[in-house]
Amino acid sequence: MTRFVKALAAIAVVFILFVACKGPVESTQLLINADDCTGCGECMEVCPYNAVEIIDGDAVIDPSLCHFCYRCVEQCPEGAIY
Ligand code: SF4
Ligand code: SF4
Repeated sequence: MTRFVKALAAIAVVFILFVACKGPVESTQLLINADDCTGCGECMEVCPYNAVEIIDGDAVIDPSLCHFCYRCVEQCPEGAIY
């Protein structure tokens, strides 16, 4: 095996280990469980970025405005945001 191929194999092993160690991909968006949401609007009131709206009786988070401060998650009395 040439040095080049050995180096390539080593890089591949490191890459595979790196990917394996990263674990599951985290969600990039908070979601609302519509079955639990009562539309009370408390999440909308505490959101400092105006990222939450109540639409047709359910909270909806605009992912382009959300900064993941988790205030809405802590505030929701139904535990509907995850
Ligand atoms: S605080 Fe919870 S129950 Fe109230 S509107 Fe927001 S997600 Fe729905
Ligand atoms: S996590 Fe923070 S910024 Fe995102 S919707 Fe909830 S309160 Fe708003």
